[in-house]
Amino acid sequence: MKIAAIEVIEAVVPFDDGGSGIGITPGRWDSLEFVLVRVETDTGLIGWGECFAYSCRAAVATAARTMVAPLLEGRELPATPEPLNLELQKRLHIFGRYGIAMFAISGFDIALWDIAAQAQGKPLHALLGPQVRNEVSAYASLVRYGDPALVKKYCSDAKALGYRFVKLHEIEPAVMRAAREACGPEIGISVDVNCAWSPDVARERIPVLQEIDAMWIEEPVFPPEDIFNQAAINREFPVGAGENACTRYEFARMIDAGAVRFAQPSVIKVGGITEFVGVCAYAAAKGVAVMPHTPYFGPGYFATLHLLAGLRGEPLFEHLYIRPAADIALGGTPLPVQGTVPIPSSPGVGFAPDPAVLARFRLNA
Ligand SMILES: [Mg+2]
Repeated sequence: MKIAAIEVIEAVVPFDDGGSGIGITPGRWDSLEFVLVRVETDTGLIGWGECFAYSCRAAVATAARTMVAPLLEGRELPATPEPLNLELQKRLHIFGRYGIAMFAISGFDIALWDIAAQAQGKPLHALLGPQVRNEVSAYASLVRYGDPALVKKYCSDAKALGYRFVKLHEIEPAVMRAAREACGPEIGISVDVNCAWSPDVARERIPVLQEIDAMWIEEPVFPPEDIFNQAAINREFPVGAGENACTRYEFARMIDAGAVRFAQPSVIKVGGITEFVGVCAYAAAKGVAVMPHTPYFGPGYFATLHLLAGLRGEPLFEHLYIRPAADIALGGTPLPVQGTVPIPSSPGVGFAPDPAVLARFRLNA
């Protein structure tokens, strides 16, 4: 089986979150940016993958089209994609082991795993190992509101929908306290500050994290590769981190430094399913929990559910708590119901884009 055609598709789907959109991304964040990878084989199989693209869509799409695709066109496919992933990493390593090039490789890796699973007529998770769950608890990943009243409203909404866990992207103690007030004692709360704090500020904030009984503090310090200070925080309060790390090697450094209680690989950034699986194996060997990063809705969302199917412990699925203008997945994305998401069971990753949604939101078609 050979690769017969490759297409890289960009789409932008607006969303509403009820907030200002200011705080985490370089500009106002009000749309889901997609770079989808479509790989077709000479046997007629079509695999779909996704590259991380928020605020970097054009750059990632260019890398996917001009750096990765030419290395794969016409290639014979191995039974599973690890050898091709390794080759892509070797050929492209001088362009950076973290960031745009790895995001592009991640999308192709997912598409190739999709094909590998379809070729065997099995859901992706069946190729990765034994299934230990057929559904997973999700947490409502709230955007940064920076406003106690709005945080209370959306925490209450999520609780009413049956979520048992929420994640805040707040950096101010007053807003965190408002969230706990709205959630009551029974809802698990984690706090993600996206590297907003210095090590000193992070240390000063530990009492409020304890006060609201947070499950973990996510990316407490800048820069994310400052694993020395992250480890110091982790000794005092559980740290989650990893969305800004690529490959199993960066995770191994973080885990070996004691810098993380919850490792958070992102399948569309870390190097795809191949590297995600490597991270899980290393984390399991070292007794560190994996808590995937997945605030997106394309093939990466579906692939993460397959990865969660076999993950030991009590991992949670991150569901970005927003309202997109359309669901990009044909047949619908498996969304949380009463805070729980089913693991897909159809062959492959289980994602294909809805042609009508692509027709409306695709760029450069
Ligand atoms: Mg995060």
